[in-house]
Amino acid sequence: MINVLEKIEFFASKSPDRIAFESVRGSISYGKLWECSEVLAGRIGALEAEGIVRRGEPIAVFGHKEPEMLVSFVACARMGHPYCPLDRSMPESRIKDILAEIGTSVMIRCEDEEAKIFQVPESILGEKCRDSAYHGDPERSSTCCDDSLNGKSESSSTGCDDALDENVMYIIFTSGSTGKPKGVEVTSENLGNFLEWMTGVATDIGEKEGKVFLNQAPYSFDLSVMDTYTALASGGTIASLDKEVLANPARTMDFLREKKPEYWISTPSFVDMILAEKDFTQENFPHIHVFYFCGERLTKATAEKLMTAFPDSKVINTYGPTESTVAISQVEIKREHIEAEDELPVGQVKPGTTVLIGMENGEIATDKEDGKIGEILIEGNTVAKGYFRAPEKTDAAFEKTPADEKFYACEKTPEDEKIYAGEKTPEGSEGSKSRRYHTGDLGYFKAGQLYCIGRTDLQVKVHGYRMELGDIEANILSMREVEAVCVVPKRSDGKIRSLTGFVVAPSMEGTFGDGKKVKAHLKELLPEYMVPKKIKFIESLPMTANGKIDRKKLEEEA
Ligand code: AMP
Repeated sequence: MINVLEKIEFFASKSPDRIAFESVRGSISYGKLWECSEVLAGRIGALEAEGIVRRGEPIAVFGHKEPEMLVSFVACARMGHPYCPLDRSMPESRIKDILAEIGTSVMIRCEDEEAKIFQVPESILGEKCRDSAYHGDPERSSTCCDDSLNGKSESSSTGCDDALDENVMYIIFTSGSTGKPKGVEVTSENLGNFLEWMTGVATDIGEKEGKVFLNQAPYSFDLSVMDTYTALASGGTIASLDKEVLANPARTMDFLREKKPEYWISTPSFVDMILAEKDFTQENFPHIHVFYFCGERLTKATAEKLMTAFPDSKVINTYGPTESTVAISQVEIKREHIEAEDELPVGQVKPGTTVLIGMENGEIATDKEDGKIGEILIEGNTVAKGYFRAPEKTDAAFEKTPADEKFYACEKTPEDEKIYAGEKTPEGSEGSKSRRYHTGDLGYFKAGQLYCIGRTDLQVKVHGYRMELGDIEANILSMREVEAVCVVPKRSDGKIRSLTGFVVAPSMEGTFGDGKKVKAHLKELLPEYMVPKKIKFIESLPMTANGKIDRKKLEEEA
């Protein structure tokens, strides 16, 4: 397991001037990151001493791509406080909802090259937490890091002593696309286990040292954990794309030319947008060594375009939910996959994790049982603690397994530790290592590779027929001309009346005849009732702030 705080401290002493993070909002070296986080940790300690925040209580961190965000995360972790990242691009109502949900009395705001500690006004805090929150002067604030960024740090005795493996490291709220957002509690141990694996994906950890990692995702989205902590654990540099730069492809290209990332981490939708730029080729960006994708389906069309533009780079598809610390499987996509498969695999499951398939008839299939389709169930050492202050939701999604009951009920022996780390299988259980997280994703295994083919909640009923939207999308994508697709239900009075397929196919004109061609193609592959009533051609699929396809927006336009 990798302790990321120890790694940061190590690189801060080995290469203090190496840049840990840079964006258009500023940069910070490893040395300064460690030093500033110590000052901020000292401030948090002082607030604890005053009774304003209790040890272990979450702290909200608000900002965007400022270096102070990272300083704040590290400071919280050093003091054993979970941090909850809130991105400036989130709607105010959502920020208020999250603050109320976590009930924190303390928020760190990162702006104007400072990390300022504020008290959250009582009016925002939820009912649940009123009793525990400190009701002091709401105007009170404490400024940190302004001095320390210039090296004039206040003295503080804070080290890593309060950062325990079982502490919750961060609380990230899920996108809420399927209901109210839930705060996923990821422990330091979860993160350490994820990094143990992730730092070795595609290249060794040693090879990653000193290299530049692209950060596209906002810090409120767990994809950012993949780039940020993989970079910090390997002694790399994070080149972080600001939302203003992201909104402008030409500025994004300039940023990429200037920062020269070797490791690219993004959603497939984001790379699709950049692939529209003619200059985005290996010739112009020879430094890009590996592309890592996560968060949504990587289509064959995207992978093929990318491999054509970057024949010497590796393309890695990874899969996982926030509830199991970013990703639990990976595969390097090769030409063979594109030629031989209908759908790209999401790869081989990492050590320390077991994936099972929960079928509709109640049976559970293992990774050895090819082709059995059902819900992807995840067990192992990166399965999160649960949803913050939501025991019912936690129990509904995180099923306790027999081995897990034992693990959580008693003191951990060295043997238990091995089981939890995935080095050993517990006696009497077929590979159960922890709670079983029900992903809501549909998948199956083939030759040791996991495939994710959609979501159970993208299963719809139209005129009484049940179908998977992902299935229809995959079949539209099998047309050579189609680059991207999203099929959404069209509702009226809360009922699904029909389906609309949004299609990106630059080589087609988007005429009525082209729509008919798509439908004719589908009729050959699917039952007639699965063929969308309307096919709409669009230039590109809209993206959410996280960089995933914005299904809600498309539903409004269906
Ligand atoms: P999030 O928790 O926001 O990271 O979203 C996790 C969800 O994104 C998963 O449960 C999947 O539905 C989807 N997802 C993540 N990676 C992939 C992938 N490689 N292919 C298909 N879907 C994915």
